[in-house]
Amino acid sequence: MSVVAAARSLFDRGLTHGSTGNISVRVPEGMLITPTGSSLGTVAELSLVDLGGAHHSGPKPSKEAFLHAAMLRARPDAGAVVHTHSTYATAVSCMDGLDEADVLPPLTAYFAMRVGRLPLLPYFAPGDQRLAGVAETAARTHSALLLRNHGPIVAAATLSAALDAVEELEETAKLFLLLRGVPVRPLTEAQRADLLPIGPTCP
Ligand SMILES: [Zn+2]
Repeated sequence: MSVVAAARSLFDRGLTHGSTGNISVRVPEGMLITPTGSSLGTVAELSLVDLGGAHHSGPKPSKEAFLHAAMLRARPDAGAVVHTHSTYATAVSCMDGLDEADVLPPLTAYFAMRVGRLPLLPYFAPGDQRLAGVAETAARTHSALLLRNHGPIVAAATLSAALDAVEELEETAKLFLLLRGVPVRPLTEAQRADLLPIGPTCP
């Protein structure tokens, strides 16, 4: 799947809005990433950025390129990164009283396999480069992260696997909110441990 096709698909299904959200894929020189200020519904050109964050060619890259570079540096097995401000996952990122080491319970086996344990990272203002270090450290042991008052970011071996994971995360956030106030039985730790992750594994 191409980055442009993935971007259109996310936009068309309401997983990104306005000019939010960005997608990157690893290439030998670093990564190709969607440009700044572009809607994923109409993006056509990509920016080439190295994993140190330097822009090499193409349009000006997303302001969140440093976050993608941090994920790709931390996870050598990852070939793609997807970041959205999707509604339900972002709603959860704004809630108080969350378990910051394990934000969403494993409500379904698919969440446990595609996303795994989801940590909540602290809030940083847009463009604050300190987020890169925090994300890089967390991404060494987690393929998906939830950024406080912001949204999810997911790395996977392939672009289609990253899309699957970010969508599974969004649907699980929706279930989590639907089930608030209702007694819930998530998977047990033993049931969770029995499942093999799909894509890059968490140690
Ligand atoms: Zn963002």
